[in-house]
Amino acid sequence: MNQPKRIDGRRIADDQVNQVAHRVRALTDADKRPPGLAVVMVGDNPASDVYVRNKIRRCEQAGILSVEHRLSEQTTETDLLGLLGDLNQDEQIDGILVQLPLPKHLDEGRILKQISPAKDVDGFHPVNVGLLGIGDKRALVPCTPAGCVILAKEELGDLTGKHVVVVGRSNIVGKPAAQLFLAEDCSVTIVHSRSSNGAELARQADILVVAVGRPQMVDASWVKPGAVVIDVGINRISTEEGTRLVGDVDFDQVAPIAAAITPVPGGVGPMTIAGLLNNTLTAYEAREQD
Ligand code: NAD
Repeated sequence: MNQPKRIDGRRIADDQVNQVAHRVRALTDADKRPPGLAVVMVGDNPASDVYVRNKIRRCEQAGILSVEHRLSEQTTETDLLGLLGDLNQDEQIDGILVQLPLPKHLDEGRILKQISPAKDVDGFHPVNVGLLGIGDKRALVPCTPAGCVILAKEELGDLTGKHVVVVGRSNIVGKPAAQLFLAEDCSVTIVHSRSSNGAELARQADILVVAVGRPQMVDASWVKPGAVVIDVGINRISTEEGTRLVGDVDFDQVAPIAAAITPVPGGVGPMTIAGLLNNTLTAYEAREQD
């Protein structure tokens, strides 16, 4: 088979950010306020710190106002719920993101439910999960799976009738990915840790989306020749030279048989932040129309 095509998530994410920037400029040129995103981080987690800084940098590039709230590790649930209540009322803020994971003493489910569904740019609030489930276009949808759909469409165009196998059933990636591909009129199969024949099911996929958090688990035996492979995994592994990032797919084994494949890094990862900017602008537009 010919050299597989690497799906360039960085370029596609840049295009998305530029489109958001263009639309935001049109707003501010018309003397309207820019969309605003509040990012809340609790405690010191080096990985979260990198993610938060990237999100804020991308917001600035797109002309979105970003407001950062860094709270100490000891923050109480009452204080955090209070801050979210204030942000829900803040007229300048259209999107609220609480960076996960939270310190153990905070109840993540309770915190995420405190965010107004209209400002829930991560798409994790049960109201948005429900809207996505019934195919309501008003849903704010989780950013990473939304990025997977955009990458698949960039590669294949119309997805109608494609068989998508999603490996992983988490609430933040696997399940919403399945719903979003269903909304594109795909046939969708979900493979998970209790599936007895995961590789066999995966081999039927035209589009294989992998989100399991296990480095290089999916090898060539999981992939139909000519499939499009979207690797959501981000895993840091040790090598003789130090450490490096790898996905959940064994890239070197799978790339020769896939029609196209996302690299790690540089595939799905950049799309997640682009999705956040898209959602912030969508939330702004919905609030301005109210
Ligand atoms: P998770 O741990 O919440 O869920 C993992 C899922 O994989 C589970 O549903 C489980 O059933 C399934 N699974 C585990 N072992 C399996 C097996 N042997 N066969 C089939 N399924 C199996 O993880 P998550 O939050 O969905 O994240 C998955 C990966 O995606 C991680 O590497 C994470 O770092 C990465 N991620 C990347 C982004 C991004 O921006 N690119 C965003 C979120 C998550």
